[in-house]
Amino acid sequence: MTPIPHKINIAIDGHSGCGKSTTAKAVAQKLHYIYIDTGAMYRAITLFFIRNHIDLKDKKAVQEALSNISIGFKRESQSGQPNTYLNEENVEYDIRTPVVASKVSDVAAIEEVRKFLVDQQREIGKNKGVVMDGRDIGTVVFPDAECKFFITANADVRAERRLKELKENGIQDTLESVRENLLKRDEIDSNRTISPLKKAEDAHLIDTSYITIDEQVQEVLDVVRSYLNQHNSH
Ligand code: C5P
Repeated sequence: MTPIPHKINIAIDGHSGCGKSTTAKAVAQKLHYIYIDTGAMYRAITLFFIRNHIDLKDKKAVQEALSNISIGFKRESQSGQPNTYLNEENVEYDIRTPVVASKVSDVAAIEEVRKFLVDQQREIGKNKGVVMDGRDIGTVVFPDAECKFFITANADVRAERRLKELKENGIQDTLESVRENLLKRDEIDSNRTISPLKKAEDAHLIDTSYITIDEQVQEVLDVVRSYLNQHNSH
């Protein structure tokens, strides 16, 4: 009998704008796994907080706001791309705007917000077969994930890639402000008290500065396939 590969969880963390989402999406597609963009979840909460003028220092207001938030993902029928939904509204475009990007790391540093999302992320991954990208997936959400990656790249390359991506989605920005935002987010994300961005000890480090997206995807798939080959259930 052909061995049936058992499903695993794949954690992809790293700095902002390194192609984590693109890589994670492609890996999930190849393996027929579920792809979860946890950054989109933090962005959706940020959008809700901005729209409802929530004071980030007011714990009660934050808690109350969270109780009115439901986040989900649905595939767009034409492209098959996952879109982020906030209370049944498609917010995929709105969560990528510079105003959300400028506030998301402050929102993501709030303990209540992290607990709210980490619980949901763990629930999604409990049956395995998930590729999740974010900042704390290999360290906090799934410390037992079978394959972990930490992706980085130099700031200039990241800013250029992110600007191109924004342009393709019809969002205007400048190279300098994109670069500044990426670095500021990295700084806040790496220095916050709760679940700071850091490489899990057992994560594979990939520097994507001088490799293509296809090469990034291949590198991740090689590690995953080698893991699966060694751990196939018979
Ligand atoms: O991945 P993306 O750049 O869309 O993430 C937006 C922001 O959400 C990050 O800069 C970070 O502040 C926050 N985030 C986080 N933990 C995650 C995913 C994202 O704190 N797991």
